[in-house]
Amino acid sequence: MSAEPIDAVVIGAGVVGLACARALALAGREVILLEAAGAIGTGTSSRNSEVIHAGIYYPTGSLKALSCVAGKQALYDYCASHGVEHRRCGKLIVATDESQLPALRALRDKAAANGVGDLVFQTPQEVSALEPAVRSAGALLSPSTGILDSHGLMLSYRGDAEAAGAMLAFDAPVEAGAREPGGIRLEVGGAAPMALLAGTVINAAGLHASEVAGRIAGLPAESIPRTWFAKGNYYTLAGRSPFGRLIYPMPESAGLGVHVTLDLGGQARFGPDVEWVERPEDFDVDPRRADAFYEAVRRYWPELPDGALLPGYSGMRPKLQAPGRPPADFLVQGPAGHGVPGLVNLYGIESPGLTASLALAQLVLERLEEAAA
Ligand SMILES: Cc1cc2nc3c(=O)[nH]c(=O)nc-3n(C[C@H](O)[C@H](O)[C@H](O)COP(=O)(O)OP(=O)(O)OC[C@H]3O[C@@H](n4cnc5c(N)ncnc54)[C@H](O)[C@@H]3O)c2cc1C
Repeated sequence: MSAEPIDAVVIGAGVVGLACARALALAGREVILLEAAGAIGTGTSSRNSEVIHAGIYYPTGSLKALSCVAGKQALYDYCASHGVEHRRCGKLIVATDESQLPALRALRDKAAANGVGDLVFQTPQEVSALEPAVRSAGALLSPSTGILDSHGLMLSYRGDAEAAGAMLAFDAPVEAGAREPGGIRLEVGGAAPMALLAGTVINAAGLHASEVAGRIAGLPAESIPRTWFAKGNYYTLAGRSPFGRLIYPMPESAGLGVHVTLDLGGQARFGPDVEWVERPEDFDVDPRRADAFYEAVRRYWPELPDGALLPGYSGMRPKLQAPGRPPADFLVQGPAGHGVPGLVNLYGIESPGLTASLALAQLVLERLEEAAA
């Protein structure tokens, strides 16, 4: 099949791919966004906590820290100017006993080093005044944390991209690729199979980014990281939420701990926990995990009634570290990292990828400027 020449292709219409397509189109580039599913945002981008993260936890100077802090500000400005529903509701990070207080203070120092200097220590009495249902030995209040309508955000990115000339193709899975003299050739299957020859390719395939990269002939195999998968299960609260803010325990090794998030309607959900899985296929929430949820939540909300937790939904984290290993950073790998001109791969875009989406798109444009190694 002869290949249709095209300036730029983005693979994957999640929040990151949409942000990249938008940024490229606004920069005057000709863009096609190829999505394997039949609609935007059917992957991780619609299976998360919808939290605008402040940028507290990540190692200082890491891509997660930098893109979260820059992305948060850009996202609040964007939501305000584009009518995307959001609320700066704030969050409490709760020490459930006094032994956690030193770690809580260390978290405040780390946040300040990351440029999040607005965390305020709260005594147990102050916590009770803010959130009467929460029991704590002290907490940090993060005023810049918020929630948003992630689907509204993706619709808005899509609208901007299309208004700037980007085209979206659904049922269009990228099945193979190859480095060629004129660019990168992509074989697209699905409803209307085609071949494209693109000068620029952005691989924003989320959970499948490593797999997609592995199918591009000419991309050095040693440049492609392995992706592991950590499922995050949620339980929803039957009945009214007693919380006005997001409530987080101290973070654990592969996640932020079973926390309370609120949707814009005020409904509370608990999670996500961490369940390492072989493949990102099964999204059912196992009801047997409920016991662990009751135990985790009652550490900071002792009054949680029996029978109040209902299995909700789950999301899948693409991880660049094996189970039990220290957390890995996002990897936004351009030509300088792998040697193929015009190609940028986004690997391991777990949390805070939603918050960071505008900053990641900006970084992708910068990576394209870098010369191939
Ligand atoms: C449990 C959980 C909770 C989270 N909570 C938050 C939060 O509160 N705040 C926050 O900032 N971040 C959060 N995140 C992270 C955030 O959801 C992700 O970083 C973000 O959604 C990733 O977007 P994406 O576009 O990279 O991936 P995705 O949304 O998965 O999109 C990738 C797209 O690529 C498509 N695709 C795959 N293969 C191909 C192919 N071969 N050809 C064409 N298309 C293909 C898929 O169909 C999919 O639509 C959370 C993540 C998880 C798992």
